[in-house]
Amino acid sequence: MDDCIFCKIIKGEIPCYKLYENDSVIAWLDIQPLSKGHLLVVPKAHYQDIHEASEETLCEVMKVARIMANKVKTELHPEAILINQNNGEKAGQTIMHYHMHIKPIYEDTHCNTEEGHRTGFPDEEMKKIEEILKVN
Ligand code: 5GP
Ligand code: ZN
Repeated sequence: MDDCIFCKIIKGEIPCYKLYENDSVIAWLDIQPLSKGHLLVVPKAHYQDIHEASEETLCEVMKVARIMANKVKTELHPEAILINQNNGEKAGQTIMHYHMHIKPIYEDTHCNTEEGHRTGFPDEEMKKIEEILKVN
């Protein structure tokens, strides 16, 4: 995609701190990291989000996510690792090229944005949602 920053990085037109690459997936450091070692796992093909991406691509991304999470764990020794992937602006997606975040969480890393925002639904409502979302 011509006007996509991530496609430009993949083509080598914009530099990045590259950590890993295979035929279909690439990983690089996030330019505005939450913490030391925050990186992104990105398919080379342009898909906007999880709905567009092929199943094969999603599997390849997840494989590389684990390779990179293992590397982060071994080399940087964070307390925990947050892995997330935003779909749509309201969910925090700013780059419309599917990617997964690997975020090392250290003692002083602020990460739980949902804290204090979780709610509960009455049983009746939960049952309705269960019926709507049930797949099998
Ligand atoms: P999103 O908010 O779409 O889930 O994540 C996009 C991420 O890409 C952000 O964390 C942002 O810091 C990162 N980012 C945006 N532009 C660039 C760039 O040019 N280079 C790199 N390495 N990361 C970028
Ligand atoms: Zn792209």
